[in-house]
Amino acid sequence: MGPLDTHAHLADLPDVDAVIQRAKAAGLSGIVAVSATAATCEGTLRLQGSHEGFVHAALGVHPTEFFDQDLEAALALIGANSGRCVAVGEIGLDYWHRLVRKDGAQRGRQTEFYVAQLRLARELDLPVSIHSRGAWGDCLSLALQHGPGRGVFHWYSGPPDVLARVLDSGYYVSCTPALEGSPELRAAMERAPLERILVETDSPVWIKSQGRASEPADVLLTLRHLADLKGLPLGDVEAATTGNAETLFNLRSAR
Ligand SMILES: [Zn+2]
Repeated sequence: MGPLDTHAHLADLPDVDAVIQRAKAAGLSGIVAVSATAATCEGTLRLQGSHEGFVHAALGVHPTEFFDQDLEAALALIGANSGRCVAVGEIGLDYWHRLVRKDGAQRGRQTEFYVAQLRLARELDLPVSIHSRGAWGDCLSLALQHGPGRGVFHWYSGPPDVLARVLDSGYYVSCTPALEGSPELRAAMERAPLERILVETDSPVWIKSQGRASEPADVLLTLRHLADLKGLPLGDVEAATTGNAETLFNLRSAR
């Protein structure tokens, strides 16, 4: 089993079939494709259908993309396709987004989307992929109150006290190629035990050190930075994080 990219916005990538070919050529065994809007949910499902067994679908509405989205329609779409999903995501809260920072009503609406999707994930018994920028404590509290009890705090760069509670609660945290240069992300991954870490790219997020947009094959960079940080052999870090992803997203039974 090669490594998995556990968080990529595959439907947003140009020339996605070539991207998937390069991921396979790089030795990846799969990609968890997350969604952010109704349109990207549809795109994710199309890719899951045409790359079955390699592209795993996560459906959800993102906390910085909900502004023009219909919550009821999104819940119906996720529910209708839950058999093809490995997770609900990307969902969460983002208190640093400019439209949320200056408008309390938007923050309320963001919370409404998050809680409704957490409840649906619990009902469907699917894990969640959580975006928690600037809202780490509230994201965890609401997940514990309403969520399915398993999931990943993706690209976790929050404070250590919330991290301790995330890990105590059985949730995973993930890191991206930004591990190379982000002090917050490095501090979190130093504290988290390897058994609770997933690797990802958040493609197509820009990789500063490479001066280009990321794609799933770049999860190899994430693994290398994580192995350096932990002072462990690359193979050990790859095996552990791949096993973690297979457990969380229940991928063994899918094969
Ligand atoms: Zn993302």
